[in-house]
Amino acid sequence: MKKIVITLISIIIILAAGCTNKKENMNYNGNPVPLSQNAYIRLPLGSIKPEGWLKSQLEAQAAGLTGNIDDFWPDLVNSCWRGGDGEAWERSPYFLDGLVPLAYLLDDESLKNKVKAWIEPILSSSSDTGWYGPAKNKDRWPLAVANKVLMQYYEATGDMRAMEVLEKYFSYLHDTPPDWPDKEWRGVRAMENAVTGYWLYRQTGEPWILETIKSIHQNSSDWTTYYEEFPWDSAASADKKIPLNWGPEGLTAHVVNNAMAIKYPGLWFQQSADERFKNAVFAGIEKYDLNHGQAGGRFSGDEHLSGKSPDRGTELCAVVEYMFSLGELFTIFGDNSLADRLELLTFNALPGTTTPDMWAHQYDQQSNQVLVTGEKRNWSTNGDYSNIYGLMPNFACCLANMHQGWPKFTQNLWMATNNNGLIAAAYSPSVVKAKVGNGTEVTILEETDYPFKGDIKFKISTGSSVRFPIYLRIPGWTDSVTVNFKGKSVTGKTGSSIKLNEKWDDGDVINMAIPMRIRTEKRYNGAMSLLRGPLYFSLRIEKEYKSVRINYDNFGYQGSVDWEIYPMSPWNYGLMIDPIKQQRGFKITENSLTSYPFADRGDMIWNTDSGKYVPWTEDAAVIITARGLKVPKWTVKDNSADIPPLNPINPEGTPEIIELVPYGCAKLRITEFPVFDVTNMEDVIR
Ligand SMILES: [Zn+2]
Repeated sequence: MKKIVITLISIIIILAAGCTNKKENMNYNGNPVPLSQNAYIRLPLGSIKPEGWLKSQLEAQAAGLTGNIDDFWPDLVNSCWRGGDGEAWERSPYFLDGLVPLAYLLDDESLKNKVKAWIEPILSSSSDTGWYGPAKNKDRWPLAVANKVLMQYYEATGDMRAMEVLEKYFSYLHDTPPDWPDKEWRGVRAMENAVTGYWLYRQTGEPWILETIKSIHQNSSDWTTYYEEFPWDSAASADKKIPLNWGPEGLTAHVVNNAMAIKYPGLWFQQSADERFKNAVFAGIEKYDLNHGQAGGRFSGDEHLSGKSPDRGTELCAVVEYMFSLGELFTIFGDNSLADRLELLTFNALPGTTTPDMWAHQYDQQSNQVLVTGEKRNWSTNGDYSNIYGLMPNFACCLANMHQGWPKFTQNLWMATNNNGLIAAAYSPSVVKAKVGNGTEVTILEETDYPFKGDIKFKISTGSSVRFPIYLRIPGWTDSVTVNFKGKSVTGKTGSSIKLNEKWDDGDVINMAIPMRIRTEKRYNGAMSLLRGPLYFSLRIEKEYKSVRINYDNFGYQGSVDWEIYPMSPWNYGLMIDPIKQQRGFKITENSLTSYPFADRGDMIWNTDSGKYVPWTEDAAVIITARGLKVPKWTVKDNSADIPPLNPINPEGTPEIIELVPYGCAKLRITEFPVFDVTNMEDVIR
């Protein structure tokens, strides 16, 4: 009888959904009732493949740390997750969360073999209770990461054992009492489980999975109220009230926790359909920008939230976690500002904090980063050598967690729409193979040097003509965009998406040209940043790399070096800007992406033998020349560039031509410049 009632209720719910004339994708699993429908549906891992510079970037990653650290880093070599007697907590799942997608995006057999060697012991670790992973580990937190690994592995391989491990683990969570204390990582980060939980529900439709997520939401840290009240604002920062500890309060000011948690109210919105949770997400993002915002869309935390000054650091883990959160939030809400920000982080903060060959990374990056050394710093919590480029500066979490950045960005480039179409959510050279319309498989090749250039060409391949909508996101930073296709043209407004609902034939081409005008952004203490498209531009500083050994020997592995970087040219320039005609005095040079070498201005060698190119070297694909004046009073303080002096500044000497390169290319950089108003200085700007 109970079953019949439930069935009747289900039918009523489905009918009610039908009454609203809600379209559902026929080819991919959207949210089943009672979840609210998301704006978009993520395509399974492997549907989107990198091309062009993005493919070279992922190949550099495979040839760099991601493809190699589990052969020499003891924490991975001896990991309990693969049967050893070493580390049994988060490091292996973190690593696999990037290795698994990287292997299948590149179709790299040796990486896939690595994945297999790691995954088999995990699959066979599933116990009768549903718990899995190393017997030594009793903490739920690393399993929240491992869940995402198994989810991706299943999508790439269809291996049902991965699905069974996840189902058993979620039934364990369902059947055991809540264990999500606010003072532990597993409590603060508990809703991370909901990413996999909702995915599992989409596959199985089992109602008890939603009960499990509801229990996690109700019994773990309340991030929604946190975003509504936001206790750690500028005033708290100025008064040094932000708790620099590892207790319940300090954990809410922890930068990585914040970067993860911003998606938690959004995840719960799917189940609650309560606008309160949606509003909390957008309020949270706004408050980060207002109180801790840095150039490039990130917020500071070194390692607790640390304000807007450009000498503050942002931890690499926070960059990749914010990226992941934004991808999740974009599928839920479809708000273009989320994808805009995802691109900002990907094209600025991510490459800016690693070497181009992906063999070294920072713990903390700075917008104004003029000295990369192990000397005394003013970080809120971190060790002095957090901004060196190395194997594991400060702490090894970033070494384990950095690998998800580029692969997950690649997976967010295209998404399915509820009306059986596709949206180009973020732009980069890629190819997507997906089912559209009534199930026809199409391939769209995206040819572009974006974000360095605004021209994008989409080439459609299909066995038979098929009608389906293609949506193209128009970034919020550009003017209106016109696209040309099939002899027609359509113009869309900034911040919207162009919808092309056509009967597409094999060989059809869509041409899109996104205008990229130079623009400025107000930053801390009256400073300015210069942008073009989604790229921030930084002063190019001549530099000297010095290999160092900090407090470990890179485990004797020859490919791994720690670097300090010293400036060999002045960096204390103010930027001359005409407040009325902001474009005046700047010159843009676009270089061909394919012609320059896999090397960085000769001061370091980045795998020049490979013949590959990655764009994030200082032989940049785009260079802007501008006019600057030295500001003698602007000097180093506590081994960072001091706060840019407030406008008006006292310049000295004659204007000089200065070169600006994309932030992601500049390992030493000034990104927040003091500005010098040239309105009445016709002679210097001409
Ligand atoms: Zn980290």
